[in-house]
Amino acid sequence: ILAKEIPNYKEIIQNADVIRLCFNENPFGTSPKALEAMQKSLGFSSMYDFRFADILCEKLAEKNGLKKENILVSAGSSFLLELITKYVSLDKGHFIIPNPSFTIFEPIAGFLGMSKSVIPLTGQKKIDLEAMRKSIRKDTKLIYICNPNNPTGDLLSRQEIESFIQSIPDSITILIDEAYIEFTNQKSLGDLVNQYNNLVVTRTFSKLYGFAGARLGYAIGHTKMIENLKKLQSWSGAEISVVTMAGAIAAMEDEIFISKVLDNNEKSKDFTISEFRKRGIKTIPSSANFVYFSLDNYKGDYFKKLKDAKILGGKTYEEKGKWTRISLGTMEEMRNYFEVIS
Ligand code: PLP
Repeated sequence: ILAKEIPNYKEIIQNADVIRLCFNENPFGTSPKALEAMQKSLGFSSMYDFRFADILCEKLAEKNGLKKENILVSAGSSFLLELITKYVSLDKGHFIIPNPSFTIFEPIAGFLGMSKSVIPLTGQKKIDLEAMRKSIRKDTKLIYICNPNNPTGDLLSRQEIESFIQSIPDSITILIDEAYIEFTNQKSLGDLVNQYNNLVVTRTFSKLYGFAGARLGYAIGHTKMIENLKKLQSWSGAEISVVTMAGAIAAMEDEIFISKVLDNNEKSKDFTISEFRKRGIKTIPSSANFVYFSLDNYKGDYFKKLKDAKILGGKTYEEKGKWTRISLGTMEEMRNYFEVIS
């Protein structure tokens, strides 16, 4: 296909008239301030960057009350999960993950020769820290915690996680994936990385700032941890485009957009949970931009209704596939969704 034959980017990326309630994306698009900065920086697309990644790390460090040596940026946090997996698997070993969760790195760890323990959630759909602790072995290298968890939206408190970290040998890397932390009132655990050398926290611009397509994520770790992770990269930061970095710096300052997204997310979430409850559908409280619910009491073919209405919904999980997830769209999209599934 030649570029001129691509009739319409919307058609390719968004698949025309489909409503996407499946990827936990930002239904309000990208921060307008970011878009403006991205447009201004487009003309620099021909040049390698030797400064922007540094400036961005400085900004992110400042935001988190740390030094730029505590920050590692990448084209999306998925690549950081991958990088951390590669780092911990250098001498093989064992890793522990909750289930269900965002374990995108699991096949890589397996391919690199690691074994695993997969720990089901508790009856309240919480990550079972106690069971994770009990499954530690001599060769355990990594414990992954997604907070809030995807797909459940459940949030563990800082206190719960910090006590957990204190009870784990410091030879084990504890990876906290905070892709959705901005949707909560809870502070990131990033400020603890100087206290716990084995803690690494990943964050993303994909959700709150609407950068899922632009791609930007970062890891927060002790300087030693970040130094080691960088050894696995040939040219740290070079996988991120100048355009994305220019946009990210502007996005962080776009308070109007941030408030709009957070306010609307709360409204959509309250509406969604109350509509599920009205229909007798079991949900759990969500601290993110999606809601986890059970199809146990649902009469009818939920997935067929979504398909017929061209709505992309989530996968199924747990209890023989009784549970599923819906990403929160705008209020209009959620009203439409409930009309479709009614
Ligand atoms: N972590 C979690 C928990 C996610 O849900 C996602 C994406 O949905 C990611 C990480 C990856 O995000 P990205 O690579 O866009 O930063």
